[in-house]
Amino acid sequence: MSLNEKIYNCIIIGSGPSGYSAAIYAARYDLNPIIIEGNQPGGQLTTTNNIDNYLGFPIGISGKYFMEKCKKQAERFNTIIVNKSVVKVILSNKKGGIHHIILEEKHFFKSRGLIIATGSSPKYLGIDKEKKFMGLGISFCATCDGFFHKEKNVAVIGGGDTALEDANYLSNICKKVYLIVRKNYFIASKILQNRILKKKNVIILFCSNVKQIIGDHFLEKIIVVNHKNKTINTISISGLFIAIGHIPNTYIFKNQLNLDERGYIIVNKGTTITSIPGVFAAGDVQDPIYRQAITSAGTGCMAALDLEKYLSLL
Ligand SMILES: Cc1cc2nc3c(=O)[nH]c(=O)nc-3n(C[C@H](O)[C@H](O)[C@H](O)COP(=O)(O)OP(=O)(O)OC[C@H]3O[C@@H](n4cnc5c(N)ncnc54)[C@H](O)[C@@H]3O)c2cc1C
Repeated sequence: MSLNEKIYNCIIIGSGPSGYSAAIYAARYDLNPIIIEGNQPGGQLTTTNNIDNYLGFPIGISGKYFMEKCKKQAERFNTIIVNKSVVKVILSNKKGGIHHIILEEKHFFKSRGLIIATGSSPKYLGIDKEKKFMGLGISFCATCDGFFHKEKNVAVIGGGDTALEDANYLSNICKKVYLIVRKNYFIASKILQNRILKKKNVIILFCSNVKQIIGDHFLEKIIVVNHKNKTINTISISGLFIAIGHIPNTYIFKNQLNLDERGYIIVNKGTTITSIPGVFAAGDVQDPIYRQAITSAGTGCMAALDLEKYLSLL
């Protein structure tokens, strides 16, 4: 691996569902993929206890176990897995050009094809017990975990599109939804605001922050402070959905690839093709909307097929 002069066809950065899906498809096209795992081997799903919405697992599966199975499947097709992070890339602007992928400790790879599957990271509130109760009542994904709180009381934090969509979705299955908004207004689109304002079981708390999370083994209550009138509320809930945004892991591609204003990689519509020839993007890193394991795996497959086509036309 070190100071390697060999030119590869397929380097994949990231080991979440999109990275492994890309590897499996690329391997079966004889592209001999190499995955660079990064500092979160298996990606975001390794932080959740239960995946209930991935196709093919009728009784659900733990996130860690699911990603171990993905890794084994990729290894079965001889994918090489490197347990390091990429610290820098030098991308070629030319069709058929060689991209340099530089890892920690000065190891590097040269490759004609690169699949970026570096995902995104949810923003945390930064308060006590937030990480402890992750998967034990606290969640970043209403679509994934909302069902566990059917007919119970929950809270959503945030005032943007994701928070309002989450609150709307949860209001259809939960008893009450407390929507906790830091500002005294929403930043979500008008159409979502109008929809949420009509919901009878959504209680909106503007100018409010969660100050404390309470519970023994599971989340039980939150303490919410109104920073305008200084009132304090203790609210009993079984689920807290944090929807204050995601940060795409794209800092190493800044100024080399076209990114949108939030930092997501821009791909040609309906493809994984980026602004640089031979570089493809899959999963959450190019998807500010769906952000699901199954859509990530789907675009991982697309990236491998797009790369194979690109190489075959050189
Ligand atoms: C708590 C939680 C629960 C969830 N539950 C569900 C669920 O039940 N169902 C569902 O469909 N979705 C769920 N999701 C969403 C799902 O996890 C993501 O949509 C999915 O993991 C995205 O996959 P990905 O391959 O794009 O990236 P990620 O899973 O984010 O993986 C990114 C990978 O890139 C690597 N990486 C990043 N930077 C570098 C670098 N510089 N060098 C090398 N590697 C790098 C990381 O190490 C990681 O391996 C959940 C998310 C969270 C946070």
